[in-house]
Amino acid sequence: MAEYTLPDMPYDYAALEPAITGEILELHHSKHHAAYVKGANDTLERLAEARDKGEFGGLVGLEKTFAFNLSGHVLHSIFWENLSPDGGDRPDGELAAAIDEHFGSFEAFAKQLTTATAGVQGSGWGILAWEPLGRRLVVEQVYDHHGNVGMNTTPLLVFDAWEHAYYLQYRNVRPDYVEKLWSLVNWSDVTRRFSTATSTKA
Ligand code: MN
Repeated sequence: MAEYTLPDMPYDYAALEPAITGEILELHHSKHHAAYVKGANDTLERLAEARDKGEFGGLVGLEKTFAFNLSGHVLHSIFWENLSPDGGDRPDGELAAAIDEHFGSFEAFAKQLTTATAGVQGSGWGILAWEPLGRRLVVEQVYDHHGNVGMNTTPLLVFDAWEHAYYLQYRNVRPDYVEKLWSLVNWSDVTRRFSTATSTKA
């Protein structure tokens, strides 16, 4: 039985136009995200086989493949919910106060996350995360789906910087795509994630 399943999109594929075309979103969800779900499930099966046979010669590769696919599944599941046709503007309340406290201002935070996303070398993500040990917000620049991550952080807002997320529409101009992402951010979803994360002990 499959452990992981592809979630339904919270809106139609064309709902984020013109910022992101329906063609991109359909491919991104039904092909790319689906491949990470399948990859995670397939790798779990291969790990079970390795345990059954007591043969762990391929374990290093399997563990890496599992981390890649599981992280891809998790991040895309968050990404769809982080965006909304009615998104944009900026947060208020405790999340806004925490951003001011940990980044100095919303503008400074936005510049850091924009730069982290646009500046990924190769494929990766820019992420606003909660770090529960220091009890602070951090921006992470993630490689692939799982590299350069501080252990224990909880992603709150994730920006996909892989070429599959924008190339059909924005070609090589990743910064223009990142700029448009800000107009789609569903701050009520980010705030809900922030509230859950901050109420949990490290
Ligand atoms: Mn993606």
